[in-house]
Amino acid sequence: MDRNAATNTIESAHRAHLTELPFGDARDFEDADRGFIAALEPCVVTAADGRVVWDNDSYAFLAGDAPTTVHPSLWRQSQLCAKQGLYEVVEGIYQVRGLDLSNMTVVEGHAGIIVIDPLVSTETAAAALALYRAHRGDRPVTAVIYTHSHVDHFGGVLGVTTQADVDAGTVQIIAPEHFTVHAVQENVYAGTAMARRAAYMYGAALARGPQGQVGCGLGQVPSLGEVGLIVPTLDIKQTGETHTVDGVEIEFQMAPGTEAPAEMHFYFPKFRALCMAENATHNLHNLLTLRGALVRDPHGWAGYLTEAIDSFTDRTDVVFASHHWPTWGRENIVEFLSGQRDLYAYLHDQTLRQLNQGFTGVEIAETFQMPPALAKAWHTRGYYGSVSHNVKAIYQRYMGWFDGNPGRLWQHPPEAIAPRYVAAMGGVDNVVALARTAFEDGDYRWAATLLDHTMFTDETNGPARALYGETLEQLAYGAENAVWRNFFLSGATELRDGAFGTPTQVASPTMMAQLTPEQMFDSLAISVNGPRAWDLDIAIDVTFTDVATNYRLTLRNGVLVYRKVPADPASADATVTLADKLRLLALAAGDGLSPGLQISGDGAVLQSLLGVLDRPDPDFRIITP
Ligand SMILES: [Zn+2]
Repeated sequence: MDRNAATNTIESAHRAHLTELPFGDARDFEDADRGFIAALEPCVVTAADGRVVWDNDSYAFLAGDAPTTVHPSLWRQSQLCAKQGLYEVVEGIYQVRGLDLSNMTVVEGHAGIIVIDPLVSTETAAAALALYRAHRGDRPVTAVIYTHSHVDHFGGVLGVTTQADVDAGTVQIIAPEHFTVHAVQENVYAGTAMARRAAYMYGAALARGPQGQVGCGLGQVPSLGEVGLIVPTLDIKQTGETHTVDGVEIEFQMAPGTEAPAEMHFYFPKFRALCMAENATHNLHNLLTLRGALVRDPHGWAGYLTEAIDSFTDRTDVVFASHHWPTWGRENIVEFLSGQRDLYAYLHDQTLRQLNQGFTGVEIAETFQMPPALAKAWHTRGYYGSVSHNVKAIYQRYMGWFDGNPGRLWQHPPEAIAPRYVAAMGGVDNVVALARTAFEDGDYRWAATLLDHTMFTDETNGPARALYGETLEQLAYGAENAVWRNFFLSGATELRDGAFGTPTQVASPTMMAQLTPEQMFDSLAISVNGPRAWDLDIAIDVTFTDVATNYRLTLRNGVLVYRKVPADPASADATVTLADKLRLLALAAGDGLSPGLQISGDGAVLQSLLGVLDRPDPDFRIITP
């Protein structure tokens, strides 16, 4: 697929950034190379079936000066993120970087090694461990620590250990409390919609290259292998809690409700090293990730950074995280952590100040400026989060979607408003002509707004579709934020080539298996097609024989409610007896025949419940109606 060149407008904006930002400062490159031991050559990881799940070599084009089609600041960040290999953080602590979106850290203990955050997929985690072992010896894994509940920090656990070893007690799995509930919840309740939008955000389906995907700011891209999960055997609950793991003392700081709902920092006295999980990375992070999520709490986030600075920095020689490269030296560490803290605190406080003056989220975002010292620090720039969308997120967290203006309270939805606008502007051809003028003037934002209306009026209009694709491309080329770039390029790609759907697995079987029965019932309730179920009024007992527990399910008014109560065949329409919760998953997926299922009472009632469950659509449309 051919893409267009950058326009003069984009080129001259890039030239201005080259003088505004401190491109002469090479410390990040020195830090990203520091401690290098060996690369993985070639840096390609395949699954058992031969499918490529990781190809860092596809980023070999990230050399030299930025091309005109990539923001020079993002180009620099991608060059840093695309470095790969095994690195020594400090003697006894090693990181494998560039083998997935996230880092895997290895801490050497007495009998073996502690693995921190085993990447996204089984395959990349196994490759990372093999790279470590090739250079540091064949040490056994004695413990795994998950820093937080996002999939890029636990999904590859089956590549570094087995459930059997964990069950046998030879490997400990350590995580912040409530890890499992958050890890599965995020991937199940809104998982399908998030995964579809994540395809836009990470650009997994996009071609790599100067006119395509150049990375994600936080790392290059998530790997596409098998995602697994082993539930923790040790929950960390309190700040100040210390544990000796494989002979290594670790001091923990809880940081819940920050970048993830369950997250923690921890300190290794023996190594004078501090792990900041994902709360201090070399970019402005997301307060609301564009794939969709609950809005995060920047005030709490800043508070935990202050606590970390006060608790650890006077005895820390190196701080590392599960993305990007470490920071060495006390002065650099304090400057780095303080800058990160100020970043989230400033965004929070200044957004609140301005919303109390009556400005709305989009208005605050448009004029918001970071203090000069923060704006010029590379590690606070918006490669993954952005000032623009984080400010809107803070407004949303406190004020919601409505900006208070009654003229905007009850607007038509896109498919209804678009033809009205287009008619008011004299028809699609006129709107395309207006958009062409805006494009030539370099006002790509206005051109995109106009063309969005044309798509939601007549998506078959060829000139509108073509110009919309070109417009999104220029927005991509101009974006410093990697995920904005991926969103723009994904829209342009789908306009030209059709929808690419969801290239990743939404919720893997091993993750689904970790759902509690309550979470499974919740996900069933979310699947009930309300209108189709309006007239049903049923009660079903569901008994799990393995744990001798019964739940009473009732469906009325389209609402599925469950209660954990003893079975009562007299008041139930039917009783479903299941060998275990996995049998419930299979039943919900339509398997009524396999062993492990018994139905007594009125079996037709179960069929009517199963008959009103909708399937989510991983291919829903975004850029077109
Ligand atoms: Zn992460």
